[in-house]
This record gives sequence, structure tokens and C-alpha cells, in this order.
Amino acid sequence: MTDKKYKIKDIFYSIQGEGFNMGKPAIFIRFSGCNLWSGSEKDRENAVCKFCDTDFKGTDGENGGIYSPVYLLKKIIALSSNCKFLIFTGGEPLLQLDEHLLSYLNKHDYFMAVETNGTIKAPDHLDWITVSPKYGSELVQKSGNELKFVFPQTGFAPEQFQDLDFQHFFLQPKYDENLENNTSKSLEFCLKNPKWRLSLQTHKFLGIK
Ligand code: SF4
Repeated sequence: MTDKKYKIKDIFYSIQGEGFNMGKPAIFIRFSGCNLWSGSEKDRENAVCKFCDTDFKGTDGENGGIYSPVYLLKKIIALSSNCKFLIFTGGEPLLQLDEHLLSYLNKHDYFMAVETNGTIKAPDHLDWITVSPKYGSELVQKSGNELKFVFPQTGFAPEQFQDLDFQHFFLQPKYDENLENNTSKSLEFCLKNPKWRLSLQTHKFLGIK
């Protein structure tokens, strides 16, 4: 059955700008919606996650729409016929991404990565799991390839995650009006705690998506 539909904000071909796979060409599939913020500015103050820098609302972005697995595969191939690296992001992709879609794409030899806030258990068939925990939410996905901590977060410290079952630990400066200060603090933290690597959002410096 391939008639299930997914709400997608954007699909685009770019370079992974941050974390372990920084610099790798990838097709990004940005799912619509998040369970920690509505995406509306009026709700930001009362949201669990208040520092989001991503527009994930609706389906009106680049190549956005309602996709079946077959239609999504066609779009992926139209964007690049030879890039085999898919990154599912959001919003919170695991609100929608399921084994049905993953097993369909898996048959076409894609390396499939997800970027999640960790509040929902990841399904099978994923090749790479990046978890970015957010203060005030319950962490359910406690293992994966990469833990990316946005720093600083009030009430939350990177140390509380560093014994979890991840291969790589990244500290990423929070992208807000204090970016410069957040970057200095992140650098200082990594120098004191070498288990952690600095992740910079290079796509923002480059002015690409
Ligand atoms: S969890 Fe991620 S997508 Fe959701 S509001 Fe926070 S930063 Fe944005």
C-alpha cells in the first residue's frame, strides 16, 4: 500500500550544514508540524520549545505539499538522480515519518537520516539518528548516532546527556540575538569537555538552506 499521505513543508537539495555530516550533499525533506511549538509567533512564549529558527508550518514551502511515498520518491529523483542521502527533518519528523514510508524508500537504496527532538521513538530502517533534546520535554529516544545539544538552554545542561548511547556529541550555539556570546560559551564548554564537538550552522553563514 503506497497511498498513505504525508504533510511536507519543503523538499530541497543542499549541503548538510551542521553536525557530523556537515558538508555532505543531501536531499532534505522537511515535515510540517512540531509537538513542541505550533509554529505561530503568538504561541512562542508559551511553547515548550521557544527558540526555534525554522518555518515548519503548513505545506507552502519549496516543493511543499501532501505526498504519497510514490510521489515523494519521484520528487526526490527529480531533485537529484544520484544523491542517495536523505535527511528527514521538521518540525518534528517523527510525528509523521513511519515504517511504511521508510521501508518503501529503503528499497531504493537511500541512506536515511532523521533529525528529531527525541520525544517520539524512532521507527526501524533509519540509518542515522540525530537527537536534539529540548528543555521541558520528555526524552524518549535515548540512543542514536549523534546527540546535538543547542547551547545554552536554561534549566538544561549537556552533561546530563553525555552518558546516553550516542556515538557523537555535538554542542551547537543557539541561533538567536546572542549568537556571538552563545558561540563563545559553546567553544569554552567544548575545550573543557573534549567529549563534545562544536557544531556550527555553516549553511547560515553560506546563506543557503
Ligand atoms: S523542537 Fe525543533 S522544530 Fe520543534 S519548535 Fe523546537 S527547534 Fe523547532
